[in-house]
Amino acid sequence: MQYDPVCGKKLGKTEYHHEYHGKVYYFCSEDCLYEFMGNPGKYVKDDPHDSSC
Ligand SMILES: [Zn+2]
Repeated sequence: MQYDPVCGKKLGKTEYHHEYHGKVYYFCSEDCLYEFMGNPGKYVKDDPHDSSC
């Protein structure tokens, strides 16, 4: 299951996607896609490790 990193919506099939740092992100709409492209660092954690501890 994919989630839109911008608005947090659960996604089914979507035509909107963007590759960033070798990973593909999916979006519910063009608006979210462009928002992400405008400021990807805001929505992507650059830390490769999930620091849950
Ligand atoms: Zn969205």
